[in-house]
Amino acid sequence: MSDSRQLVIIGSGPAGLTAALYTARANLNPLLIEGLEAGGQLMLTTLVENFPGFRDGIMGPDLMGEMRAQAERFGAEIRQGDVTAVDLRKEPFRIVMGSEEIRTRTLIIATGASARLIGLPAERALMGHGVSTCATCDGYFFKGQEIAVVGGGDSAMEEATFLTRFASKVHLVHRRGDLRASKIMQERALANDKIVWRLNNVIDEIRDPAQGQVSSILLRNVVDGERTEVPLSGVFVAIGHRPNTSLFTDQLEMDAHGYILTHDGSRTSVPGVFACGDVQDRVYRQAITAAGSGCMAAIDCERYLEALAQGLPEAVPIEN
Ligand code: NAP
Repeated sequence: MSDSRQLVIIGSGPAGLTAALYTARANLNPLLIEGLEAGGQLMLTTLVENFPGFRDGIMGPDLMGEMRAQAERFGAEIRQGDVTAVDLRKEPFRIVMGSEEIRTRTLIIATGASARLIGLPAERALMGHGVSTCATCDGYFFKGQEIAVVGGGDSAMEEATFLTRFASKVHLVHRRGDLRASKIMQERALANDKIVWRLNNVIDEIRDPAQGQVSSILLRNVVDGERTEVPLSGVFVAIGHRPNTSLFTDQLEMDAHGYILTHDGSRTSVPGVFACGDVQDRVYRQAITAAGSGCMAAIDCERYLEALAQGLPEAVPIEN
């Protein structure tokens, strides 16, 4: 079965849904394909207090539900399912979803990034209930409490340092004796006396999923095998992110970490293909910045199609 479209958006986090809202309102009849993790990373959080417009905060899944309904209200077509292959070598681009094939003149990629997880069952079970992958989002909930940060890179140093604003103590758990983080980030963290260094340690267990909250972690020293239980109420996993770009390998320019490179707003190395949200952002990674870049991609796409319709050279941005 083959379907022909003007615009397909892949991904249903804040970037994809904002792109869908804007392009639907611009009468581009977008088709948005949700992906396996519909709603993106906000579906793994509880209360979101830093999305402007919600004075008392809003639950992550509720925010995504609202964004989705708003995009649908203006005619965005949202389809469940996962894209299994794309071909961007010639226009129209080809998008494969299992046995279905969709052809499209333009594509907005909003497939996001996934936080790397340690891999403990309790980590997923308690995500949003004491386990977090975003200090900026959730640090505030741990005022005066003891927490742990896992990782030895810049993210872990940054998050641990930031979290000492709220927490009474931050246990920095890293699997080696040496930190991967840059010197300056290490020094800043090392100078902070609220950080307790748990080097050469891994978390064997996060307790207690049965209670629905974090009550302690069980550490194991990888050098001498010693086990320590540390009572605390939060675990921030900061072991890196992985952009969801495997579909586009060798088809789009990416940086050394696999994030899609954009230029002049949301344009990628292939004219007619735009990228927004965490899939092209290693730095900010916030719902509001993702939504903002989704808006940019929508406007860039609209102007690209307009230029094509007017017979202007492809991919020449129309300036205001
Ligand atoms: P990263 O540099 O890849 O560091 C990941 C850390 O997590 C490493 O210390 C690694 O341990 C550890 N780790 C990985 N998998 C693990 C596992 N399964 N269990 C336990 N520990 C695990 O990631 P990042 O810190 O997110 O930084 C990503 C990039 O963004 C870097 O280029 C960084 O410089 C940049 N960044 C910059 C800033 C800043 O300048 N303000 C802030 C944040 C990030 P090993 O060391 O043993 O491999």
